[in-house]
Amino acid sequence: MEMQMAERLKKLPPYLFADLRRKMNTAREKGVKVISLGIGDPDKPTPDPVVQELCRAINDTSDIHRQRYGCDVPVPDFPEAVKSFYKRRHDVDLDDDQIVTTMGSKDSIVKFCMGIMNPGDVGIAPVPGYPTYNIGHVFASAVTYQVPLLKENDFLVDFDAIPGEVKRLAKIMWLNYPNNPTTAVADLDFFQKAVDFARENDILIAHDNAYGENTYEGYKAPSILQVDGADEVAVEFFSLSKAFNMTGWRAGFVIGNKSAVGLLRTVKENIDNGSLRAIQFAAAKALSLAEEIIPPINEVYRKRRDMVVDVLNKNGWNIEKPKGTIYVWAPVPEKYKGLSGDFATDLLEKTGVVVTPGLGYGQWGEGYFRISLTYPDEVLEEALSRIMDLNI
Ligand SMILES: *Cc1c(COP(=O)(O)O)cnc(C)c1O
Repeated sequence: MEMQMAERLKKLPPYLFADLRRKMNTAREKGVKVISLGIGDPDKPTPDPVVQELCRAINDTSDIHRQRYGCDVPVPDFPEAVKSFYKRRHDVDLDDDQIVTTMGSKDSIVKFCMGIMNPGDVGIAPVPGYPTYNIGHVFASAVTYQVPLLKENDFLVDFDAIPGEVKRLAKIMWLNYPNNPTTAVADLDFFQKAVDFARENDILIAHDNAYGENTYEGYKAPSILQVDGADEVAVEFFSLSKAFNMTGWRAGFVIGNKSAVGLLRTVKENIDNGSLRAIQFAAAKALSLAEEIIPPINEVYRKRRDMVVDVLNKNGWNIEKPKGTIYVWAPVPEKYKGLSGDFATDLLEKTGVVVTPGLGYGQWGEGYFRISLTYPDEVLEEALSRIMDLNI
């Protein structure tokens, strides 16, 4: 039997990095020592107290529920830790029905779309941007309106440039600041504008706050929920993945608008059954120790950021040091203008270094490439020196 691909899978854009992955393999076969700076997945271990809490919980034979479905016997410490964390970090108060804990943001984004979107509905997604917003729309048989993030607007969404037709039709709009891949940050005024836009046009804002804690030199990224009344028109997705070195653990939460949170909870009850209690305990522990755990993690990225940006700037680039995220977003050299894919391919073939071409994040990502700072210092240094040797 030869299974045919479902229509929804056919609607997904081609995986743009598949081509690069193939070229990586070819280069490796030729004996090139390939260095990837492509993936945003922290290289440092999860902090000890979090690991220890997981071990404590999984070994706790007095917890008669420890092996059971996480959704049926949830660990109340996790949402309590979420409340305390948002109160401490943003002075935001949350009620129980404004919180749903998740297995990270990626699948929650798709599940969220399945809970609120009908076939033909429109969702607004920033480009360049995280591909999963569009994937969520596709899985819900909805469609995406792409809103450009442009350098001249500091990679912020220009709400005034969104056509009236789109404002009328759209049900949801995704935002993500600090932003992957552009590293742009947004201030509270921007979020106020977003909330006003949501109210005027009856569109739910879903703010993906994946990098809100990955910030540098005293910069503090706001939560959209700090805006007065934001919880009437917005939700925020938070993930422990990047801030706490916990990508593989699958832990996060969605907070804000009660009805939207409730709909995500309904989807989850029907398809995922929640995460292991020990993981919920560990996630609660991580959040409760945020002020201790996060600064040393960010210090590692700050040093790498400085190294990467300094080397690039000594070699003809003119990049500002990002205030947030775990990436550097840089323009491609002049001769590769409009050809970020060719730049990435040439770089790989001539130096063995893999960066992600901006086009991989959508049409307005063209002209840029992204370096991830989630690689050991010496790997980053070696990669940068190879790029500079190329003399581009
Ligand atoms: C990494 C990332 C996420 C998701 O991470 P999870 O591990 O699925 O929680 C979400 N949004 C953006 C923009 C990311 O870069």
